Amino acid sequence: MTARSCRRNRHGSSPNYATACLYTSSIEVGRRIKYIVLFVFLPVYIFGQTRSAVTLSKIEDSIWVHTTYKFFNKVNVPSNGLIIQTSAGLILIDTPWNDSLTVELLDSAKMRFNQDVIFAIITHAHDDRIGGISTLYKKGIKVVGSKLACRKAKELGFEVPVQVSSADTTFVIGNETLELFYPGAGHSVDNSVIWIPERKILFGGCLVKAEEYSDLGNIAEANLNEWPQSIQALIKKFPAVQTVVPGHGTWGGQNLLKHTMDLLKQE
Ligand SMILES: [Zn+2]
Repeated sequence: MTARSCRRNRHGSSPNYATACLYTSSIEVGRRIKYIVLFVFLPVYIFGQTRSAVTLSKIEDSIWVHTTYKFFNKVNVPSNGLIIQTSAGLILIDTPWNDSLTVELLDSAKMRFNQDVIFAIITHAHDDRIGGISTLYKKGIKVVGSKLACRKAKELGFEVPVQVSSADTTFVIGNETLELFYPGAGHSVDNSVIWIPERKILFGGCLVKAEEYSDLGNIAEANLNEWPQSIQALIKKFPAVQTVVPGHGTWGGQNLLKHTMDLLKQE
């Protein structure tokens, strides 16, 4: 029975009509509530999902990959960095793509770990690594980078990290040791990597390609001649590596270094 037929019968003498009317009304109210839920709360739900655009994936005790996305030519491109829990606070390796995603990451990290980011390392000065540096400075977080990354940041108009004294620098923060290492040019002239010796984890950044990628990605500023030697330098320097985290896509083992070499041979 429709609402109209219900109204037409509302003044009818039979009590059955009234009962049917009440029943129909409650169905309609139910439907309306359903629509209200769909139209009012579904966008809120979707918006909520969109806002949680930061993914934190645990790869080992106290070592997490942060992943955020940016649209390029209608493709949602993921980008990885690291969050490392230490006894002194959180260390951030590379920012998300921009400031708003970086605000979200800092909020998510605070909520999940109940600690603040106290120190950040930028592995090279492209937006997928340094795009949120202003947010880090606003929050009073110390940000460091190599001489080459600092020079590049200035050239590209980003705020500039604090320059480390050597391209290969070891940081001891709380209970964790990290090494910044420059293997040579590749994806960019300034691409460094991070080695976590006690975990045998290598954060390769954009120098290393994930297995699902069948090309070298953004090579606008790449040095294709030096890139193979730089990968060789990583293979030689970190023979015991167990986990390799690329700048984009799925992390794995030493196979990612070999995969990157194979892609370079195709060029
Ligand atoms: Zn890059």
